[in-house]
Amino acid sequence: MKKPLPKVSLPSMVTTLPISKIKVKYRPFVIKEQKALLLAQESKDRDTILSTIVDVLKSCSDGDIDPDKVPAADLAYFFVQLRIASVGPEVKFTIGCSSCGTPNTINMQLTDITLECPPIVTDIKLTDTVGVTFRLPTMTDALVKDDNRDKSTYILYRLVETMYDEDSVYQKSDYTYEEFEEWLGMLNEQQLLRIEQYVNSIPELTHTLEFDCHQCKTKNRRLLEGLHSFFRFDVGA
Ligand SMILES: [Zn+2]
Repeated sequence: MKKPLPKVSLPSMVTTLPISKIKVKYRPFVIKEQKALLLAQESKDRDTILSTIVDVLKSCSDGDIDPDKVPAADLAYFFVQLRIASVGPEVKFTIGCSSCGTPNTINMQLTDITLECPPIVTDIKLTDTVGVTFRLPTMTDALVKDDNRDKSTYILYRLVETMYDEDSVYQKSDYTYEEFEEWLGMLNEQQLLRIEQYVNSIPELTHTLEFDCHQCKTKNRRLLEGLHSFFRFDVGA
């Protein structure tokens, strides 16, 4: 019987995810995974890109990562670390000038990307006695689709863990989306605003690219936000 081909070992690294503080051991992605990422990127389909990234993150971390539990911003941060380990920290970005449209090529260092994580309040009081508790969104939430429901209300429904008053704690899982939607409709504007404030406080991986157009010298600023926008980086061919 033929001997199996030699096993090639890969370097192993450790990173701590900034929000969940989970320690993850990982290895760089291999050619096969790099090709899958490239194909996903070419598809330009958001869901294909996200689910391919999730698959690669899972296999490179040997199952340490649960996309149903880890906050989406942590996963985006982890993907950037993985990209640095696998291809290197530099990425070329071609962006059209906001003033004259001339394409500008910018070299960016992925090591400059940081994830801000101030303390997040997940218990939102709506009155003196009534409140809602939330969890942070995961990558799985970003992939969920339900065309029959209002998207932002449905995401909110997914993120709610409990509702409470002075007597009881109500598990969200015991209530249907329709019941939740009706309950939400009974809030006043100020109460709804508090919920919106929670949504706006959810950490996201962001980075601002700044450059002076080489043609017309206009100062440009471009905000990259969330894994999907970062993935416009080439993953290296
Ligand atoms: Zn310009």
